[in-house]
Amino acid sequence: MLFGANWKMNGTPGEALSFLAEMKDRGSRETDADLVFFPPFTLLPLLAESGKEAGIELGGQDLFWMDRGAYTGEISPGMLMDAGAGWFIAGHSERRHVIGETDDVVRKKLEKGLESGLKGILCVGELVDQRERGLTEKVVRRQLESALDGLDIADASNLVVAYEPVWAIGTGLTATPDEAQRMHSLIREWVGEIGGGNVSPEELRILYGGSVKPGNAADILSKTQVNGALVGGASLRAESFSAIVTSIPAEG
Ligand code: PEP
Repeated sequence: MLFGANWKMNGTPGEALSFLAEMKDRGSRETDADLVFFPPFTLLPLLAESGKEAGIELGGQDLFWMDRGAYTGEISPGMLMDAGAGWFIAGHSERRHVIGETDDVVRKKLEKGLESGLKGILCVGELVDQRERGLTEKVVRRQLESALDGLDIADASNLVVAYEPVWAIGTGLTATPDEAQRMHSLIREWVGEIGGGNVSPEELRILYGGSVKPGNAADILSKTQVNGALVGGASLRAESFSAIVTSIPAEG
């Protein structure tokens, strides 16, 4: 299992350091799950040591597809690695729908990040009106095709997909565990068909994201197709993120 704590544009240095210290006190080193903390970029160097102590890797919430140059406001994979990150997120719904990133931009970011040796979480998911119009499958398949078709990844295990229905992010609404199971199963099948980067669909880790909380995590994580969660709001406190991590079913 894999759990990501996505802090978005939240957190002071003190809050992030306390989060890692508290995660450690709550047993983050002892879990079999992989844990990754995505704080704002500016906090990454400060957290490298505490992350190691807590057994929690660090990641950037985004990256740019060039190594250096006149790209005001952007951050390169090399800069992320220098700052202590081993992971990145590509195509988070807030970047797609608030900032306006296209499928093409997401593809470039994913390709560059993976090529640079970082591990990446590709987020896919439908908007509420797409869901209501019965377009969920079409939209998610298109996002996967655009990101993965013909992608050459040296290490396929560096790619993780997160299914995050946009209507469930930060809203308190979640897909039912059966809906998540169904979509994850389709995503696995489609990734096998698209065949990008030698990814083995059976081994691909697919996370669910969208208002995962201590109260609903166990039900979602009990589904065989769900390999972990990308958590926003409930990751801001170590108490709730840790409760989500420890709600993995015994055989998980
Ligand atoms: C996210 O940021 O990816 C997310 C799923 O947020 P939340 O858990 O707050 O819905």
